[in-house]
Amino acid sequence: MQYRVTPTDGTKISALGLGCMRFPGFALGRPDQKAAEAIIRRACEQGINYLDTAYLYPGNEQCVGLALERLGLRDKVLLATKLPHGSCKRSEDFDRLFDEQLRRLRRDHIDYYLIHNITSPLQWERLQSLGIESWIARQKASGRIRNIGFSYHGSAGDFPVMLEAFSWDFCQIQYNYLNEHYQAGTAGLRAAASRGLAVFVMEPLLGGRLAQHLPPEAERILERAATPELSTPAAWGLSWVWNHPEVTMLLSGMSSPEQVDENAAVAASALPHSMGARQLEAIEQVVEVFQRLERVPCTGCNYCMPCPQGINIPGCFSAYNASYAHSWFTGVSQYFTASAIRSGRPKLATNCVRCGACKRHCPQHIDIPERLDDVRRRLTPGPVGAALKLLGKR
Ligand code: SF4
Ligand code: SF4
Repeated sequence: MQYRVTPTDGTKISALGLGCMRFPGFALGRPDQKAAEAIIRRACEQGINYLDTAYLYPGNEQCVGLALERLGLRDKVLLATKLPHGSCKRSEDFDRLFDEQLRRLRRDHIDYYLIHNITSPLQWERLQSLGIESWIARQKASGRIRNIGFSYHGSAGDFPVMLEAFSWDFCQIQYNYLNEHYQAGTAGLRAAASRGLAVFVMEPLLGGRLAQHLPPEAERILERAATPELSTPAAWGLSWVWNHPEVTMLLSGMSSPEQVDENAAVAASALPHSMGARQLEAIEQVVEVFQRLERVPCTGCNYCMPCPQGINIPGCFSAYNASYAHSWFTGVSQYFTASAIRSGRPKLATNCVRCGACKRHCPQHIDIPERLDDVRRRLTPGPVGAALKLLGKR
């Protein structure tokens, strides 16, 4: 395993961290405990020493806490979790939520605590007005919080404002070869590192979109430039992130022990500046292909779920993108599967009643009801829609 050192206190962190959000069962809100334990065990065997969870990942903190205890790893890993700041209405809520997190995680401290999903500095200002700065100071003094940071999904312009707003130890940004100029982006990565913060990267493979089912044209580009170390799209995507010396660690939401092995093998050799000009050029060409073909920047994070109408929102967007990247038939077939068309009560994009419950949770700022309309238009055009109506499916 490759380790990188935090600029704040020299802690050695594995370049590959385990994002626990995508354990099997996560889409149903019930992480599979046995599967999660197998993944965590393998991750630690491979030298991974950083695990990331959050209050808002359903059942996840409890699952991680129990797994670490059963595996005897409770004090052997660096553990990160996050404050659901939207649930903080009064200053007492900080302690109430944090105590609950410690109970769920079976721990007396958190190594890396993040303000979860900041999309605007106004959210931080609201927390300041509730006294969060003195609360953080107390937790750090007592050792209950070792490092404080924030995860970010806001604009490039607001990111420097957040960096200035507090004396953070670290930040967590979305970063991958398609997002160089999106959210914090490369400029944000460099700004954070130059301020002496450890920078952790999330979505290095955009929720799997850069790992599998790439547009065939993009796959061919990567195959032509492949090396023994860069033999899969996932290896390309992860290596591109690790190529940046400003990155302290990247989180991958691994969902099987085999995936842990694959990513750990890549981490061993993907050092800063290890990609050559030919490889970086191949990535640029792949970016061009994506920019031409991908339509909705959904990462499949599920933050917008569940939809009260039962619509599988990320499934709809994945199918929509596939209809451009692969073929219209592939997209339609995926869409019908995602919408449970064979069941008695399919949940198509047409079921959307525009209640807006999903939209405010989307870290990619997708206008979900609007884009579901695009899904409907493309994947159930006139005759298909009429046929579904006849069959009583819509
Ligand atoms: S706006 Fe549509 S997709 Fe979003 S939660 Fe409401 S019904 Fe579901
Ligand atoms: S629509 Fe947004 S919130 Fe929903 S899964 Fe996609 S990226 Fe996540």
